[in-house]
Amino acid sequence: MTADFRHFYQKNWDERVAIVTEQAHLTPDEQALFKQYYVPQHHEIIENYLTDYPLPMGLAVNFVIDGINRIVPMVTEEPSVIAAASNGAKIMKRGGGITTTLNQREMIGQVVLEKVKDPAAVAAMVTKHASTLLTVANEAHPSLQERGGGARRIRPRDLGQGYLSIDLFVDVQEAMGANMLNSMLEAVSKAIAVMTKQDSLMSILSNYATASLVKAACDIPVELLQAGRYSGELVAQKIASASMVAHIDPYRAATHNKGIMNGIDAVAIASGNDWRALESGAHAYAVKNGQYRGMSRWMTNGKILHGELEMPLPVGIVGGSIKINELAQLNQRLLGVKSAGDLERIMVAVGLAQNLAALRALVTTGIQQGHMHLQLKTLAMAAGATDDELSTVLQRLELAPQQDLATTQRIITELRQAKEETDD
Ligand code: NDP
Repeated sequence: MTADFRHFYQKNWDERVAIVTEQAHLTPDEQALFKQYYVPQHHEIIENYLTDYPLPMGLAVNFVIDGINRIVPMVTEEPSVIAAASNGAKIMKRGGGITTTLNQREMIGQVVLEKVKDPAAVAAMVTKHASTLLTVANEAHPSLQERGGGARRIRPRDLGQGYLSIDLFVDVQEAMGANMLNSMLEAVSKAIAVMTKQDSLMSILSNYATASLVKAACDIPVELLQAGRYSGELVAQKIASASMVAHIDPYRAATHNKGIMNGIDAVAIASGNDWRALESGAHAYAVKNGQYRGMSRWMTNGKILHGELEMPLPVGIVGGSIKINELAQLNQRLLGVKSAGDLERIMVAVGLAQNLAALRALVTTGIQQGHMHLQLKTLAMAAGATDDELSTVLQRLELAPQQDLATTQRIITELRQAKEETDD
């Protein structure tokens, strides 16, 4: 039987739980999970709200960014991410820390016109009336200008095939700015339609935030990179080679960048930011020259390993869900950020540290060694090991030829059988 989900959005919480229970035949214990993580205020954040979904939060340490010691709260379900970030930061700290550069913080929005017969003429008209359009934009969100921000410039771009994008650049101050910009764009769109007599297809911010770039760099004496039997000089060379592979091969670049985003997303979530926005902007920037490439570059002269990471990071310290997320606000205090720019600098530094640790592990011991302990623990728990059984199961699993779910379940069964026999 299928439960009735019509008008689900109008139901209260008890009714929603009852409907889901009927649909999925939930047990009382399963229903209790909804209750356990339920936060009434979160009805205001998303639609059809049922419950919260907890994720682990930890602290990455050892960061020295622009001469300031930072602790970095990270929210992630992936083992080894926080250890790797802390480890990368420790090596960088010994080398003098990470320096960052941030020149500009503007968000870009688009009003897209369609069926434009003479794009050059329409573009010229828009450029001629740019200051009127900037006024229209600012009047749509006056408080931004009062805070020192606001619409800064307009750039028409011919997209071909009759489409013309009118790009609006806005200083969004301490917010990420998506909603503020969207309201401004809708006002500008109406004004452009009247002015140009052209059809406006849509108006929306762009997540390709090329006017919100931030860069992290570090110089590490190669001897600090020594790992086991690998000399520091050799490790530095191998890291530079790994960086080159990510530069020339999109298959490798995707994984290289995923490693960078492991850290950046974890800080984005911890600080209440929209990680989907950061992901889309980062990957679009990674393909800016027509080929998808690794976002960081590492090079060595045999004495120093130099690393750099530049990317768009349009984050906020106000707005969105931050205003009702107490942990996000607390995490901002732990981070010690006073501005959105501070947060950008920390996040790009975390990305670079994450990348250093991953590459160093990959070109020396391999990534699995570091991952393994927590991975095996997760596997043992997924297979149903109790707290009492955990350490024995882990010991046997480490020696097992295969470390998969079936093997883990077999180990647990054997352990329990042996215990029953002893108890008998
Ligand atoms: P808000 O809509 O919450 O706007 C920012 C708020 O912060 C405003 O209310 C503003 O007040 C207030 N504020 C207080 N102090 C400051 C300050 N110093 N500087 C700037 N603003 C300040 O959030 P955003 O516009 O930042 O939009 C972010 C949200 O939009 C995220 O949740 C994101 O997920 C979502 N989003 C993302 C999209 C995308 O990425 N494509 C698309 C649509 C939404 P006041 O009103 O007085 O100015």
